[in-house]
This record gives sequence, C-alpha cells and structure tokens, in this order.
Amino acid sequence: MNAFHKASRRLESDLQPRLTAEQLRRWMTHFAESIRESETLLTNLDAAIGDGDHGVNMRRGTDAVMEKLDTLTLVELSGLMRIISTAFMTSVGGAAGPLYGAFFLQCSHAMHHKGDLGLADLTAAMEAGYRGVVQLGKAAVGDKTMVDTLAAVVSSLRSSCNHHEPLLDALRAGAKAGRQAAEDTTEMIAKKGRASYLGERSVGTQDPGATSVALLFDALAQAASSSSSRSKSSSQRLLLL
Ligand code: ADP
Ligand code: MG
Repeated sequence: MNAFHKASRRLESDLQPRLTAEQLRRWMTHFAESIRESETLLTNLDAAIGDGDHGVNMRRGTDAVMEKLDTLTLVELSGLMRIISTAFMTSVGGAAGPLYGAFFLQCSHAMHHKGDLGLADLTAAMEAGYRGVVQLGKAAVGDKTMVDTLAAVVSSLRSSCNHHEPLLDALRAGAKAGRQAAEDTTEMIAKKGRASYLGERSVGTQDPGATSVALLFDALAQAASSSSSRSKSSSQRLLLL
C-alpha cells in the first residue's frame, strides 16, 4: 500500500461511524438472545468436560444484565460496562461470572470519559478486558479456556486497527477470528478450570467458555451492523448536499 492509499485509509477510518452507548446496549440484547438460543449447546459442552452449568450460568448472567438495563434509560459507556460487570459478578456462581465481570470492569475503566468509540478506543478497551481476565484466571493462550477466544479477537482487532480498517469490517473479522479460536480449543488439553481435571480426556470437546465468548463478539458485530446502515445513509446524505 503506498503513502497515498495509507493516508486515505486513515482518513476513511477517521470518518467511520463510532460505537455509541446505545449500540453497546444493543450488544447486550443480541448477546442475551444468542445465549438463550445456545443455552443447551453450552450446557452440553460443559457437561462433557466440566459440571454442566455454563449454559445456565450465562443465561443467568445475561438475564441479570438485561433486567438491570431495562430499568435504566440513558447511561454513558463506562457506567454501562460497570453495570454489566456487576450483574455478572453478583448473579453467576461459576468461574465464568467473575471472569466476565473482570472483563467488563476493565472495559469500564478503559472507556472512562468516552462518549463514543472509534476502532482504536474499542480495541484498547477489549485489550484491557482481556488483561483483566488473564490477571484473574491466570490462564494462558492454549490452556483451552475463554482466554483463547479473547486473545484471538483482540489480536484481530489490533491488526485491523493498525491497518486502519473500517470499524464494521474489523468487528466482523474479530468475530470470525473468535469463532475459529473457539473451534480450535476442541483439540486442546485443558490446563485451567474444571476441564483440567480431565487432562487428556478433555480433548475432543470445544471449550464452553471459549464458545460463549465467541457468541459475545458475534453479538458485537451484529449490534454494530444493525445500525451502520443508518450511519451510512446519513453520510450519503452529507455527500448529496
Ligand atoms: P465453572 O467452571 O465454575 O462451572 P462455568 O461452567 O460457568 O464455571 O465456566 C467454565 C468456563 O470458564 C470454561 O469453559 C473456561 O472457558 C472458563 N474458565 C475456567 N477457569 C478459567 C480460568 N482460570 N481462566 C480463564 N477461563 C477460565
Ligand atoms: Mg461449569
């Protein structure tokens, strides 16, 4: 890519629609719907290599998030992330509750004083969330946990950000990388969490937490695309003036 293309790419990404608190709320609506649809799948995966409660845990967590958000009208980004974090931490008993809670808590800190998010802001927030999960759970990439999916998504977002990709393309690529990373946990031996008690017998089952995190980033791409048509039409209107 020559200097002109690079500069125009950067300009394009500066003009990209930004994610608003409303869209991040919609992120949670899509995630909650997706968890409801996948509850049995998550339960079955966890029944194979854990204790069979990941579907119920995630359902309880996302229901608590939606219940809380339904009682609130306008909330800024950082506050929204903190509310989501608290809902996970207080409503979910299993390992996933505190881990999701840590993710959203660090996202909340990273979004402090932000009114909306460009790709660079979003990437930085997701990286902070990822670090929060690693700090709490001490899992590394390859341990067959949700960290595998998070690492792949964050790395994809960082790469898209460095290449000044459009926000929506970056989110779609991130979601795709997350789905692939979750699938790739199937052949791994679990080194952290309950599945690690099985050792080599954990091979052959996709990790439930890695799977729910893949759904999380699918939901984010979905939330961003459902409103990008509106943003596009307003920029098209601008061009027509
Ligand atoms: P529990 O294991 O307490 O029953 P869940 O079933 O809700 O909790 O969540 C299990 C998922 O949590 C696993 O599939 C894995 O992805 C994730 N997990 C467990 N321990 C860790 C850890 N130390 N670090 C990161 N993720 C972990
Ligand atoms: Mg479990």
